[in-house]
Amino acid sequence: MINRLKILYELQLVDDQLDELEELRGDLPHAVESLESKINDIKKSISDKDKEKKESLEKREENEEEIGKHQENQKKFKAQLYQVRNNKEYDALTKEIDHTEDQVKKLEAENNSLADSSKRLTEEIEEVSPQLETLKEELKEKQEDLKVIIKANEKEEVKLKTQRKDIVEKIKKPDYSAYMRIRKAKKGKAVVTIKRSACSGCHNIVPSQRQLEIRRNNRLFFCEYCGRILVSPEVVEQTETD
Ligand SMILES: [Zn+2]
Repeated sequence: MINRLKILYELQLVDDQLDELEELRGDLPHAVESLESKINDIKKSISDKDKEKKESLEKREENEEEIGKHQENQKKFKAQLYQVRNNKEYDALTKEIDHTEDQVKKLEAENNSLADSSKRLTEEIEEVSPQLETLKEELKEKQEDLKVIIKANEKEEVKLKTQRKDIVEKIKKPDYSAYMRIRKAKKGKAVVTIKRSACSGCHNIVPSQRQLEIRRNNRLFFCEYCGRILVSPEVVEQTETD
């Protein structure tokens, strides 16, 4: 049974070292992540605006074609005005001419406003572009810094991860689940011991009867205050000297 406890404490020691390596990276992983997300947002907004500009240009070209057609028709109608035989025909033709004129005006107005918004989109893109460059530079620097730190501890990290894997294979599944659950909840320490009659995790006094039970090393005990796994000082000593 003591081995079941020792192996859990061993896992804690390896995880402590992995946590230290993680801490060396400081805020860098988070900073890299947040820069990446900012850059993606800006890129997305630029590409949306580019798309809108392209669609606006296509629409303008379509309208130009339409305007051309109306103008052609108008020319035809105007020529026909000289050949009308009665008022009815004359009225019908002028109505058509007015209609084409209205259509042309409408399309030209639409094109003007499309051109305006296209110009505004171009300005907006130009405005964020330098910001995007700055963020990319910043990201590159942070990534480099992080790479240096990771590289410096690469061997150590690989070694610890291998050790961890070997240890985990020897741990009972429910023990490992409990360990991981507590470790996550307590942000690191899942296995603690008794120091000066107190839980070394939360510093609350462990009743002496409970201390005696824990010292028997024959089952898993959890601190009744913080919920961490409590192992006896003997488990700690034996693991550390192994
Ligand atoms: Zn505790």
